[in-house]
Amino acid sequence: MMKITFPHMGTSWIGFKTLLEGIGQEVVLPPPPTKHTLDLGTKYAPEFACLPFKVLLGTYLEAVELGADTIVSSGGVGPCRAGYYTKLQQRILQEQLGYDIRVITFEPLRRNWIGTYRILRDLVKVSFREFLGLVWLTWQKLLALDALERESYRIRPLEIETGTTSRLLTNAFADIDNADSVKEVKAATTANLETMRNIAVDPERKPLRVGIIGEIYVVLEPFVNLDVVETLGHMGVYVDKSIFLTDWTIENTVLDAFRVEGEMNIKDAARPYLPELVGGHGQNSIGETILYAKRGFDGVVQLAPFTCIPEIVAKSIIPKVSKDYNLPVLTLMLDEQTGKAGTSTRLEAFVDLLAMRRERLRGESA
Ligand code: SF4
Repeated sequence: MMKITFPHMGTSWIGFKTLLEGIGQEVVLPPPPTKHTLDLGTKYAPEFACLPFKVLLGTYLEAVELGADTIVSSGGVGPCRAGYYTKLQQRILQEQLGYDIRVITFEPLRRNWIGTYRILRDLVKVSFREFLGLVWLTWQKLLALDALERESYRIRPLEIETGTTSRLLTNAFADIDNADSVKEVKAATTANLETMRNIAVDPERKPLRVGIIGEIYVVLEPFVNLDVVETLGHMGVYVDKSIFLTDWTIENTVLDAFRVEGEMNIKDAARPYLPELVGGHGQNSIGETILYAKRGFDGVVQLAPFTCIPEIVAKSIIPKVSKDYNLPVLTLMLDEQTGKAGTSTRLEAFVDLLAMRRERLRGESA
């Protein structure tokens, strides 16, 4: 039996744990990233590496110390360096630091059906039928986690007692983690959505609406984005994340495997400003900004890792998009020096600006 770990990305560990334990492997849960994780990753990462690279490397080092002997991760393609990153992390762990660790990388299905089959044949210790059941259970858990999180975005800016939504959300995640069947997942989701909807709120508030765009790992992992979603929610802002893991999986695994084009709206919207793919989520960041403008959002926050070329390209184009669509955009460049207090201050100033802008627009239309 292998002792497997994997990247920590928001709450997705709940689903991956279910799948890996179910197929007969021992799981070493990746510890939630902390300052120590980042320091570790920064120490051994090349200087040019982006923040996700450093946090992931730090996570692997912590998990190896906890006994993991295998890392399961996903690869990538295109001009973004993500595709090479897993290999580079593997070299650092094995050659530079001398760890006896196996690294299993799932490449995009469309390029690698046979490789994926071989990996699964090695990993899966249960029957094909049981495996399919586990994939379905995992998928239901991931859908439930996203649904609960989406609901929290709606309620948090309206809550009367600050912090209630976050507390209930943490309990809800634990219930999904403890569910052993699809039936239990559905029951836990319904019960927790109901509990959240009963939180005491002020229905008179009209929260500002802000979209979050940027690179997938920084959008999905709260430690890396300095809890931007919760911070804005506690400032009374309704936040919408442009990326959820389940949407991304459908797009990049299922549709991509069968070469079906998805997200055409996003890419179509981006094309007049950025016609070619620049890797990562660069083109999406442009398209999503435009779609948020069309949906009447008050502003957009771009989360960009400091040396991430795709997001830097997007950042250079965003001022034009922002002007053409009259939509304020705040870019947060994130690296190991970025602090939570400074980020909160910048978010507060941005929210003040959006509130004044809304008042002005109201005055003009009255
Ligand atoms: S998209 Fe940017 S942040 Fe993500 S791995 Fe590539 S370079 Fe790093």
